[in-house]
Amino acid sequence: MRRMLVQGAVIAVMLWLATSDFANSRLPEASPSGLEPAAGTWRATPKGLSSLGPAAFLEAVLPKIKATPPEPRLTERIVHVRKGDTLMNLLLRADVPRSQAHLAIEALRKSYDPRKLKPETEIALRYQTVPAHEKAEEEVKASETFDGMRVALRYDLDLVVARNATGNFISEKIERPVLQELVRAGATIETSLFEAADRADMPTSVVIEMIRAYSFDIDFQRDIRSGDRFELVFERFLDEEGHIVHNGNVLYAELEIRGKALRIYRFSPQKGIADYFNEKGESVRKALMRTPVDGARISSRYGKRRHPILGYTRMHRGVDFAAPRGTPVLASGDGTIERANRYGGYGKYVRIRHGSRFKTAYAHLQSFANGVRKGKRVQQGQIIGYVGSTGRSTGPHLHYEVHEAGKQTNPMRLNLPTGLKLKGKTLTAFKKKRSELDQQLADLPLQNQLASNE
Ligand SMILES: [Zn+2]
Repeated sequence: MRRMLVQGAVIAVMLWLATSDFANSRLPEASPSGLEPAAGTWRATPKGLSSLGPAAFLEAVLPKIKATPPEPRLTERIVHVRKGDTLMNLLLRADVPRSQAHLAIEALRKSYDPRKLKPETEIALRYQTVPAHEKAEEEVKASETFDGMRVALRYDLDLVVARNATGNFISEKIERPVLQELVRAGATIETSLFEAADRADMPTSVVIEMIRAYSFDIDFQRDIRSGDRFELVFERFLDEEGHIVHNGNVLYAELEIRGKALRIYRFSPQKGIADYFNEKGESVRKALMRTPVDGARISSRYGKRRHPILGYTRMHRGVDFAAPRGTPVLASGDGTIERANRYGGYGKYVRIRHGSRFKTAYAHLQSFANGVRKGKRVQQGQIIGYVGSTGRSTGPHLHYEVHEAGKQTNPMRLNLPTGLKLKGKTLTAFKKKRSELDQQLADLPLQNQLASNE
């Protein structure tokens, strides 16, 4: 009878080990601290065990414990790169011993320059955790060994640092499998393009890309009316579990203004950078933008209520874009900054020279962007400042002027030549790509249609 009880106890202990929660399931009678074990432990104890004396119990159980130390577990802790962080800082902050951190970084350097890590990058730190257990008579505390890390370089690319068979750190870039799908979404504009996009649940990055592409042709303050509509097709990437990991580029967009549709296609000419082209294969990019402000933030309703003068008049000599304070103002074209300071009634003011013929000016700014000062080169679309109401101004807006050959000119009437026109083989390639895309999107259901009609 006694023998059977002992066997029962051994089996019970082995079951505990198998459930791997051995650290918390300290044996009641063997516990030197006399701490109450977790309630679950008691329940898992077979009735016969408590009737066994401590000495007899240990005699039966100890050999088993010695033979089976707890299995180390792999745990992950997620941390993020902070502004101004070095990888060493980050690892030390996560309590990785300096020597280990140093070896891991040395290994990582073989596949990547850690100085390129951007703030917000997610890093999963891996540890081997050995739970507390008892070895012969001594008690062994829980221990943690730094085992490596996984740096999310991109939505589809990881940089992995791990130990090899001999325990040394090695590193490798590993592609994460992603699925690509095309999403077609559309909306009807009521107050602003951004509001419509928001209502239709379109990702911000995608909407901004579309707006930038149309900013060369469209005056988002005056051209867009309530009832106009737009549609776009963009790439979306999903992980193996179907979660969205990244929204990619806009491949096609259609903006319908008072019944007239403007269609643009994303295309990469050979050796060239991907850009947007109209149906005829002409780049949408022009020397100057018609809307040199984040067009998404412009609300026509807002503009009408607060700004009686929004168009060009002889007296006014510029166009105004009503947008909330802090909205980014963009350099209308490539050029050199001639002025970036306070300038009388214009308030904070920037003027840019674009070649020999054109200049553009931006007034009433709240502030200048970093590095914007006289003599600096700027690129088209670069943020130069933020919408404000400095100088003689009644509310936050951008006052924009275009000067042509020394004279102020109406930016709305400005007829700039189109940029790059695709020719020959490139044009043929574009047309092929265009019809492929047209075909693809004919088969795509229009998402968010209901949302936009509500
Ligand atoms: Zn103005």
